[in-house]
Amino acid sequence: MRLIIVGPPGAGKGTQAELLSETLGIPHISTGDLFRANISQGTPIGLEAKKYLDAGDLVPPEITINMVRERLGEPDAAKGFLLDGFPRSVEQAEALTGILADLGVGLDGVLSIVVDEDAVVGRMLARGRADDTEDVIRNRMRVYTAETSPLLDHYADRIIEVDGMGEVAAVQQQILGKLGR
Ligand code: ADP
Repeated sequence: MRLIIVGPPGAGKGTQAELLSETLGIPHISTGDLFRANISQGTPIGLEAKKYLDAGDLVPPEITINMVRERLGEPDAAKGFLLDGFPRSVEQAEALTGILADLGVGLDGVLSIVVDEDAVVGRMLARGRADDTEDVIRNRMRVYTAETSPLLDHYADRIIEVDGMGEVAAVQQQILGKLGR
């Protein structure tokens, strides 16, 4: 299966994606995790990306798209993947279409995790990640509304909507049900 998971910051994408990738036996590919790994290892991508993550802004498209293209070309992604945090703009979605066409594969669905954005700010503050301070969270929400939410229209014909306000296990059950698992 080849899936995308989208939702506002704090929607629980990473948590749900991790569980789902284990059940489906496909890699969970999170661009946020890839950037954080690059930052902690001090790679050229990490050095460039850090200021954007710190501010809650999108890392420039060339860097992000090339990183995803490389990751999707790795052998484990041949059996399917769950993309988390990418695409995050219509431009990135169009790039993904090209990457998948080059790989000769399609997309099976786009999971959209729907939450009350005010209610999830508390979840993020509790998580305590470096970019989970109130003003950076507010900027990530702004970026989500402006850049990422148009993806819901872009992918309208394959959106699978999930109510993300329940318990972790209940949300996961809902996702599996909607995927027919
Ligand atoms: P969250 O879902 O809580 O916003 P992520 O781990 O998905 O957290 O993303 C953290 C940060 O990583 C973003 O604010 C952004 O700076 C960067 N990032 C992640 N994915 C992308 C992407 N597809 N394009 C550009 N920047 C990205």
